Amino acid sequence: MATEGENQTVFDVAAASMLTKELRDVFASGKTRSYEWRISQLKSMIKMCDEHEEDIADALHQDLSKPKLESIVYEITMLKNSCTLAIKELKQWMVPEKAKTSLLTFPSSAEIVSEPLGVVLIISAWNYPFLLSLDPLVGAISAGNTMVLKPSELSPATSSLLAKLLPEYLDISSIKVVEGAVSETSALLEQKWDKIFYTGNGRVGRIVMAAAAKHLTPVVLELGGKSPVVVDSGIDLQIATRRIIAGKWGCNNGQACISPDYIITTKDYADKLVDSLKKELEAFYGKNPLESKDLSRIVNSNHFSRLTKLLDEDKVSGKIVYGGERDEANLKIAPTILLDVPCDSLIMKEEIFGPLLPILIVSKIEESWDAINSGTKPLAAYLFTNNKKLKEQFVMSVSAGGVAINDIAMHLAVHTLPFGGVGESGTGSYHGKFSFDAFTHKKAVLYRSFMGDAALRHPPYTLGKLRL
Ligand code: NAD
Repeated sequence: MATEGENQTVFDVAAASMLTKELRDVFASGKTRSYEWRISQLKSMIKMCDEHEEDIADALHQDLSKPKLESIVYEITMLKNSCTLAIKELKQWMVPEKAKTSLLTFPSSAEIVSEPLGVVLIISAWNYPFLLSLDPLVGAISAGNTMVLKPSELSPATSSLLAKLLPEYLDISSIKVVEGAVSETSALLEQKWDKIFYTGNGRVGRIVMAAAAKHLTPVVLELGGKSPVVVDSGIDLQIATRRIIAGKWGCNNGQACISPDYIITTKDYADKLVDSLKKELEAFYGKNPLESKDLSRIVNSNHFSRLTKLLDEDKVSGKIVYGGERDEANLKIAPTILLDVPCDSLIMKEEIFGPLLPILIVSKIEESWDAINSGTKPLAAYLFTNNKKLKEQFVMSVSAGGVAINDIAMHLAVHTLPFGGVGESGTGSYHGKFSFDAFTHKKAVLYRSFMGDAALRHPPYTLGKLRL
């Protein structure tokens, strides 16, 4: 039950329990299973985006100074694309899939039925707070579940906009928003869910997984990691550089889960690469990037100090070859490149998640594979090369959630590819049909008639029956 504090309602374990019970009753009514309900919710979500594009972009600007175009392209349009695809494909996704049967069950037929899981919890992060909240919701709705969304408290403007808009556009009896931080999320995590879909860091990922284990609840964990970019020589350097910049600073100023975390290149190519990065960065963000309206700010002062600490470490501060400027009052850090940083520096030990880009030097590009594999498995790994053999080696020997060759982050835009991590970068995946599958149980169904009752199945188990 929600208890009244002096000024506000507290969302505690009792309130969370009531909420899940309510959602379980709605799920049991069968309302969310119908094709029509699913389609109507998806269509309403598109309508909400169209009617509130300005409000959504404003909220994202308040939370992150996110440039409007970035918000429209990477958050609003991507969400609408997910809805449009689901609307177009849903009928097909819902059709039971025929399966082959074996001689043992002859005569029979079999199929795989996509069954909604029930009541699901979606916990999202602050860096793409609109898309990362609603894109999993598209999967949960398409699959016919009831659900709770818990947006991130670190992007409060978007969180409160979602809490306001979702009840206006979506079915409030089946889709709930709970705003809040650790105590509210903890209250939710005590409940029994049929799936928990969490986006965020691995420390909290472990808390989510431990809470889920108590109820044997399956999880999708969309986490992060240090995503490397290997740059070979002999490439179209200008295009490579522009793509690296778009994937790093053009994605929320580096605060994106699949942004390049560091670059690996050879000694003889490093200076050329740095020169090209400097030139293109200046063309994009001007001579004083702290004043550029095209760069997001750092989300809050904690993350600002975390990033400046990485930059100010003694063994790293002398390695800055571009940028390094900061404006604490406005939480801005300029695009910063560091050359030849030591592997034991703090910046190489944790996910950077910000505008700093260290470059590591190897003597041969093939040494990169071991360098990457010696760390935890990243969410994404990138290679720029024209060399076919290097491409094959990279794909076969580097373990990562996803890989893009000669581009950054764009694998995420291909809806036929699953998006998710491996090892410490996450478990499970979504996007396109994978989102539907993430919130669906694949139920095995066998149909038999009363013919063909094999004697072998019934006692007495005489060996003679084997020869029948
Ligand atoms: P965050 O601080 O917004 O936390 C994520 C969610 O966890 C929030 O809803 C928050 O309320 C909740 N939370 C925080 N502490 C908690 C606790 N103690 N118990 C229960 N819940 C708690 O976001 P973040 O973790 O800073 O996000 C950045 C991380 O997320 C990075 O590591 C990034 O790589 C990763 N990320 C991954 C993806 C992906 O799709 N794989 C997308 C975005 C971000």
